Amino acid sequence: MMNCREVFETGLLYHHYANTAYPLTPHSFMQYRLNNRDEIHDFVVSEWQKADALSLYIHVPFCKQRCKFCEYVVLEHTDDNIEDEYVDLLLKEMQMYAEILKGKKIVGYDLGGGTPAKLSVRNLRRITDAVNTLFDIEPGTVFSVETTPVIAANEPEKIQALYDLGYRRISMGVQTVSEKLLNALGREGSASVYEKAVANIRKAGFQSFNIDLMYGFLYQTDADFGNTLRYAVGLAPEHITLYRNRYKGTKIESEAGGVSIYKAVYQYRLAYSILTDHGYIANVGKNTFSRVPDDYGTSDYLTKRVIYGTPYVGMGLGAQSFGMDYLAYNLGAAEKRMERYRTAIREGRLPIQDIYRLPKEESIAKMVSVAFYFAFVDLAAFKARFGLDFCEYFRDEVDFVLQNKLMELKDGRLYLTPRGADNINGVIPLFYSPRSKEELKTAFAAKSLGEENDERLFLDAYNIDNYFRPSLAVDIAVFAQQPDAKQILLIRRGDHPYMNHWALPGGFLRSDETLEQAAARELREETGVQNVRLLPVGNYSDVARDPRGRIISAAYTATVDPAEVHVLSGDDAIDAKWFALEVTQDGGIYMLTLRNDAKTLTATLHITPEGTEILANDGLAFDHAKIILDAYRVSAV
Ligand code: SF4
Repeated sequence: MMNCREVFETGLLYHHYANTAYPLTPHSFMQYRLNNRDEIHDFVVSEWQKADALSLYIHVPFCKQRCKFCEYVVLEHTDDNIEDEYVDLLLKEMQMYAEILKGKKIVGYDLGGGTPAKLSVRNLRRITDAVNTLFDIEPGTVFSVETTPVIAANEPEKIQALYDLGYRRISMGVQTVSEKLLNALGREGSASVYEKAVANIRKAGFQSFNIDLMYGFLYQTDADFGNTLRYAVGLAPEHITLYRNRYKGTKIESEAGGVSIYKAVYQYRLAYSILTDHGYIANVGKNTFSRVPDDYGTSDYLTKRVIYGTPYVGMGLGAQSFGMDYLAYNLGAAEKRMERYRTAIREGRLPIQDIYRLPKEESIAKMVSVAFYFAFVDLAAFKARFGLDFCEYFRDEVDFVLQNKLMELKDGRLYLTPRGADNINGVIPLFYSPRSKEELKTAFAAKSLGEENDERLFLDAYNIDNYFRPSLAVDIAVFAQQPDAKQILLIRRGDHPYMNHWALPGGFLRSDETLEQAAARELREETGVQNVRLLPVGNYSDVARDPRGRIISAAYTATVDPAEVHVLSGDDAIDAKWFALEVTQDGGIYMLTLRNDAKTLTATLHITPEGTEILANDGLAFDHAKIILDAYRVSAV
């Protein structure tokens, strides 16, 4: 059996898979599967006798087109006839469950998808009426629904109808506002659509409005994501939910290897900083941010599922159900087609494709994995669900996360720390079942993590122009030792900035040379001197050192024989002269005097442990007084 350190490291290695989605693969639970179809109905009935309260999730699998990152059960290009028939079947499935769930309280309800708002108002009403009449809804339960921006923008009457039907929380997937990325992911969207959608949602009366955003895409830059976050904040939803792209089972799964854990961590940190700066609150590591005090930001269905492990029945094509001790997937989950779902319902059978009788350790792993969606485990909720003390049951794991400062105990909850949030993919699998920990190591061992193909993917997507790049220059302090004084060569600038000021010779780095080669070239071109030893002086990177922009200079010094120097003032230099250099010191204050027959230049500098400051400067360009002083000190050693 792997120890905690091994599990943690394996989770970080397979970070695209070690997340809140449990089980790890569609085949993980095969050993727990009920293989006799005739037993399913009675098994489900007996399982629900164990629970008093549960949530409902109704899946509407229709989308105009399938986004490339989508991992859900979705049917494209459907028409009204197919959708009418689907709702007929769904209502029959709801009736079957109404029988099984008699006397149970419904404490959460989500109409999700797919795109539920794609249905006609008539069909939305049929589903909602059935929920209200067939099930015993706990008063105060907030009905939650999902829409796309395009539907919310173009069909205000439907958004109004959803509000009038009793839905009070609405969630809209924006994902990204980068047009380039939207196109690459096969999604629609534009600023005018989002703004109109928000206006319609608000006009309908919704006061609990969530926007979904995604990160961790191969072709998504940090700047893109930052813009998306700031844009979403500008739309002023009550809640913003982040989804890190999960590649497993999507059309872009092959891109996963090009996205490092560092990119995902950095993008989450970026989101956390932007959202909390704008008043959206979340404990670190949590995905949903809310600006409503004491609101988790999620639907009742999800909040209760995440904190309390509240069981739920999923109805509709491919929907997932999690009972007290079972997990099931409806027909259509694998093949993403309606035929077998239709046949089962017509035959009066629950449309279940796979159902697993879970041992306690698997139910626990399922609940705790999902708890990390909020980045904490509620110890009392765990005890209420499983009758076990969390810290006892996971004694080694809890010791590990506390000792390594990945989690901390606060108010009866075990919370991720900032360190834990960065390493969430290592923390979550610590609470997997022993079987899943082994599976994590073996099931993904064939993935080409960190190998040549992943690096190629990364490099293909990498665009250096997306990142800030300063200009690089070299400056050279050329000294000549005369018997009576140290001389330094300066050029007079013939162009802006600092026109007519005196500067060190130098120039910009070319793309095909090192800094040392650039310094040697500049020295040769401007003085005719070659084959001298260039000593590094330092790097000069004050943000405002050059008014043309961000230019960082690497400075060098050389001592030459003045007889060999043939000064060639060129480019932007209109003169070049030797100056006698005199340096005097009073504590940390240094005075430079540079003098020749025609001109005297002075500068006063203060050297402190933090750096050098120019206090006064008469006639020298840029921060060259600093470089001259530093070069003088280097050459004096
Ligand atoms: S809109 Fe949502 S559910 Fe539909 S395909 Fe795109 S991601 Fe999947």
